[in-house]
This record gives sequence, C-alpha cells and structure tokens, in this order.
Amino acid sequence: MIPFDYARATDARTAVATVMARPDAVFLGGGTNLVDHMKLGVAAPELLVDVTRLPLDRIEEMPDGGLRIGATVRNSDLAAHPLVRQRYPVLSQALLAGASGQLRNAATTGGNLLQRTRCGYFQDVTTPCNKREPGAGCAAIGGWTRHHAVLGASEHCVAVHPSDMAVAMSALDAVVIVLGADGERRVPVTEFHRLPGDEPERDTVLAHGELVIAVEVPALPSTARSAYRKVRDRASYAFALVSVAAVLDTEEGRVRQARIALGGVAHKPWRATRAEEALRGAVPAEDAFRRAADAELSAARPLPDNGFKVPMTRNTLAAVLRELGTQERR
Ligand code: SF4
Repeated sequence: MIPFDYARATDARTAVATVMARPDAVFLGGGTNLVDHMKLGVAAPELLVDVTRLPLDRIEEMPDGGLRIGATVRNSDLAAHPLVRQRYPVLSQALLAGASGQLRNAATTGGNLLQRTRCGYFQDVTTPCNKREPGAGCAAIGGWTRHHAVLGASEHCVAVHPSDMAVAMSALDAVVIVLGADGERRVPVTEFHRLPGDEPERDTVLAHGELVIAVEVPALPSTARSAYRKVRDRASYAFALVSVAAVLDTEEGRVRQARIALGGVAHKPWRATRAEEALRGAVPAEDAFRRAADAELSAARPLPDNGFKVPMTRNTLAAVLRELGTQERR
C-alpha cells in the first residue's frame, strides 16, 4: 500500500476545510469501499480525514414525521431502527439486501451513497477506464457487459451504481444535506448522482471537500406501502442485476401516486418517472403494472451481454407492484 497521512476530524467544518485545502485529501467513513480501492491501486489519497467520530450518528424524527439520518449512522443500525422498519420498509429491506452483516456494521449512510461502481474494469488497473483515468477509454464497451447499464449510459461509460440503499432513498424522495465552505446545501437524492455523459469520473454533484452530513427522508402518506426487491446472481453478498424500490399509494381502487426507482440498470439510481406517470389514476392490476414497466423500458438500450435485464426489470417491477397492490387491498 502507498503511504498516506491520517487525521481524525473533531468537527465537521474543520474536516471540510482540511479536505478542501488538499486536492489529494478524501474523507474516510466506514472504509468498506475506499480502503479496497487503495489496496487495488484505484485510489491513492495522500490524506484520509476520518469523519466517523463526528456527532453525525443519530436518527431523529422530524416535525412532519419524516426522519433525519446522520451521515455516520451505520447501515445495520439504520436497517434495524424501529421507525425505519415501521414507516419505510423499502429502506430497511434495501439495506438488508446489501453486502454482508459485517460490512453493514461498518458502512455508513453517507459512504453508502458515495460508493463507486463495481465495474470489473474500473477495479482492474491494468485495463482502460474513463472513470478511473479520464480519456483512457472504456474496456467494458466491447468487453463483458453482463453487469452493466441498460438505461442512461454514454459512449464513455456503461457502468451501474452499486448501492441498494440509494435506490430506496430515490423512491422516497430523500434529500441529501451537504456541508461545504459556504455552509449547508440541500440536494434531492434524485439529483445527487450523475449519469456518465462525457465526465464518467464524476459520480455525484459534490465538489471536492463537500461533506455529506445527513439524509432527510420525508414522511409518507399513512396509506402508502413500500417494498424493495433485488435480483442477483446468488442469495447474499452480491450486487443487483436488477432491483426495484417502490412506494404505492392508492385511493378508492385507483393509484393516487406511485414512486419507483430501479437499481442495477444505470449509472445512478434510476427514477422511473415514465412508469409512475403511466400508473397515475390506473386500477392497480397486472395489465397496468406491465404497461408501466413497458413505458419505462422503451428507453432501454441493452449491451451484448445484458439483454436479459430488460425482461428481468419488467418482471421484477410488476412483482413488486403486485405485492404492494395486494397489501393495499387487505
Ligand atoms: Fe470504466 Fe465505466 Fe467503462 Fe467500467 S463502464 S470500464 S467504469 S468507463
């Protein structure tokens, strides 16, 4: 491993100032992704500013019934929190679908949002990768693409975002609270992650030195139901081939509102706005679920090895909506 400096932050503003002052400095959370990258040679920061001891480890109920989740809350603690399990099953289920028990005990809320793609070429420093080295080329294009994107990709990068939690946060319309040199700013999680475009090296809209300090999840209507489903190559400790997070709210036998996000299919959690629009006012039944999935997936552009993701997404989305529709009628 390449030598690096280590500093433990005692307050958030000093941590931000320290990282902003050094282009080679980064924040260290649970380390479950960054430390792997340092071992692989994907990242070589010269200074790690450890933010895990900052007082950002609380889950607080907001006046509107939503939750404010501190950035250093561990994934396992968030998944097990009674209010998360009771009000946001989609979030608890997504967290428990991610990684392993040991990793969830270490990984933080902020770090989960910021984890980087598991594209095998990105992690293999012997292959060209525009995300690792802008302008180098993309080994995945023309390579093995089973795990890559079918929506929103570019000619520069076809990677997918690996987080389960972020997919649930997208369906919940969560807001990321970011601290920078000029104070706090609020970024809807749907705008936090980027599509690759011609800058695949940028995963998010964060500037260097900006620190995620919390995520706020708004309250859901009392009649809304939510769920997360993940399809993967093995039953645990695997990233999603396809995942679906959905919130469904119905009234008098019609869909009042559906909020849907897809994982494993794009460079960011993919908010399925076409499917949501197709469902608005529909009777929550199989034909409407299939029509909604088709509306969203008409934009899919599968790669040579991942055409299966299109019907897999269609079927998974229909299954989650069916499950929620059934819950509504109980
Ligand atoms: Fe790199 Fe993106 Fe290509 Fe993977 S898909 S090799 S991350 S540029």
